[in-house]
Amino acid sequence: MLFEDLGLAQELARAVAEQGYEKPTPIQEQAIPAVMRGGDIMAAAQTGTGKTAGFTLPLLHRLMGGDRAKDKQVRALVLTPTRELAAQVFDNVQLYGKYLPLKHACVFGGVKINPQISRLRGGVDILVATPGRLLDLHGQGAIRFDRLEALVLDEADRMLDMGFIHDIKRVLKLLPAKRQNLLFSATFSPEIRQLAKGLVHDPVEIDV
Ligand code: AMP
Repeated sequence: MLFEDLGLAQELARAVAEQGYEKPTPIQEQAIPAVMRGGDIMAAAQTGTGKTAGFTLPLLHRLMGGDRAKDKQVRALVLTPTRELAAQVFDNVQLYGKYLPLKHACVFGGVKINPQISRLRGGVDILVATPGRLLDLHGQGAIRFDRLEALVLDEADRMLDMGFIHDIKRVLKLLPAKRQNLLFSATFSPEIRQLAKGLVHDPVEIDV
């Protein structure tokens, strides 16, 4: 399969071509069409498989079709366990989204919160966040989720290992019930399956 076969928007295909990728990785072949269709997915994928482009590309594709974010609203939220991973995912969002008129931001703890509050004020299409700082920002009224269309939990197994389950549950309670859910995890332990039960609906299961 080639990238052209996936039907990604021209702007995304161009950004991908600039990276020199020859063809989609196995996870991208499966995840990109499933996410473009709007369904939930549950994917077992290690770092290095191309999983980040596997969710970033189709999310950008979907978001470019709808109304732009405004006034503290977020349209897609990617939760990651660490600030390093958040920064990495954000780099991907910026890289693949460079020809689209969408706005993106990345928020994590350990740095000043005020610049993040300012950044969110104008609305953000894709927000990449670690759970604790996201909850702080919400508590300060800096962010609104009423127009959220999609949620990604990246490296969910690491999030549970790091003790983020309560933060994740608190975040989930803030989100609209009707949304697309993408769950990525290196492994599917019983704990992850338990989390998935309350999160993804009729998911496409991907194991690469
Ligand atoms: P990830 O698993 O998302 O951390 O991606 C691992 C690396 O693979 C990143 O450096 C990407 O730039 C690269 N990558 C992603 N998709 C492809 C592709 N289709 N072909 C070649 N490299 C890719």
